[in-house]
Amino acid sequence: MNEFSGRRVTVAGLGVSGVSTARALAGLGALVTVVDGADGERQRRTAGELAGDGVEVRLGDGATLPPGTELVVTSPGWRPDSALFAAAGAAGVEVIGDVEVAWRLRGPGGPPWLAVTGTNGKTTTVRMLAAILSAAGLRTAAVGNIGTPIIDTVLAEPPHDVLAVELSSYQLHWAPSLRPFAGAVLNLAPDHLDWHGSMESYAAAKGRVYEGNTAACVYNAADPATETLVRKADVVEGCRAIGFTLGAPAPSQLGVVDGILVDRAFVPDRQRQAQELAEVGDIDPPAPHNVANALAAAALARAYGVEPRAVRDGLRAFRPDAHRIQHVAEVAGVHYVDDSKATNTHAAEASLAAYEPVVWIAGGLAKGATFDDLVRGAAPRLRGVVLLGADRRLIAEALARHAPDVPVVDLARTDTGAMAAAVTEAARLAHPGDTVLMAPACASMDMFTNYNERGDAFAAAVRDLAGGRAGHE
Ligand code: ADP
Repeated sequence: MNEFSGRRVTVAGLGVSGVSTARALAGLGALVTVVDGADGERQRRTAGELAGDGVEVRLGDGATLPPGTELVVTSPGWRPDSALFAAAGAAGVEVIGDVEVAWRLRGPGGPPWLAVTGTNGKTTTVRMLAAILSAAGLRTAAVGNIGTPIIDTVLAEPPHDVLAVELSSYQLHWAPSLRPFAGAVLNLAPDHLDWHGSMESYAAAKGRVYEGNTAACVYNAADPATETLVRKADVVEGCRAIGFTLGAPAPSQLGVVDGILVDRAFVPDRQRQAQELAEVGDIDPPAPHNVANALAAAALARAYGVEPRAVRDGLRAFRPDAHRIQHVAEVAGVHYVDDSKATNTHAAEASLAAYEPVVWIAGGLAKGATFDDLVRGAAPRLRGVVLLGADRRLIAEALARHAPDVPVVDLARTDTGAMAAAVTEAARLAHPGDTVLMAPACASMDMFTNYNERGDAFAAAVRDLAGGRAGHE
């Protein structure tokens, strides 16, 4: 028996998340209706498939609460001010997200959660954490926003020992009873403000990852906003605030000394010296922001009691997911790096800081961002810039203000083929030893289906370039 069995649940949205939630809830014995404002061919096909699972689907109206609804489970894309939730509120019906469902299903004896949120670096950190936990011999999984539905994982048999959970601000917003064993906020920069309404409510959603933590709240010592969230959180007595820093760590912190990741937080009281965990060179790639991700992962693992050796082995085993500062090829002495996942300025800032001299390929959908700070910081390292995509003008204007001497090629194109042209132009600008970095600081949907497709287009163009060179030599 579970608390969803026999209840009338309305699922908001017939997307990937909504479909998997609806199926799982129906499997648990809930009476599920999915509502979606769209009524296209894709939705009808999916509705037909769900009928076989006993799930009812109402298309063309995403605002009306089906009569008798006892609980609403929402999908990430649905804004909190959606009409459906207003109707639920008026009817006294609770609204929660898939993470909350999973948390309630997990039960008191279920695996503890080590939870990660932040504006950038979540997926990378959760993968590093899962690699460390696996290296410690624990049965674990990287789940949540990372793509593996969390409800399915908590129902898996045999159960996991511990879970590495990536949580988006949307998921945290709708997970009121979530109480992780330990949580981390990696960093905070403006993003998704259209959904949350303000930076304050975005930060507050992120801060929920600390609520009720048992062992440790992990924060970024270089990002004071994350520490402020720890102070505001209501945690279990004995839960510790643990910082991570790229410099030498204070007590209760993890940090870096002479190229070694060290832990001063989880060492026995008697032992004054910092515990060595791993070398910066063990991390792929060893760029500063990625070392920060590794320290956060290590802090969560150490809070769970993982030994230093497993931290090192896990970090050595870790390989980044595609399109995240991925080295594609070296052509004529120039390195080509795909950071298509840099879909906001904070992410692009991190990868631009890792290369010099760099030819930067940028542009796409700006999502309301401004580019002055990013361009000002990167200007001294830029060999040249190639711009494409819908909002490239915003970047061009920032370059004119802060990097007037840097050569800029504005392709003035938004077609898919523009990426190949961008690589050709970047190759012209680059000198041997330089890096060509595609870190657009923008979303991809003006030109591509998603950031994966954008990254694939870049990699294909680089391979063509390499092939063309080989042909001439
Ligand atoms: P998320 O899951 O939060 O989107 P990812 O791990 O997928 O984060 O990384 C997305 C992009 O963000 C990377 O390609 C890189 O450009 C940038 N990034 C990764 N880690 C950090 C960090 N700690 N700080 C700033 N930017 C980062």
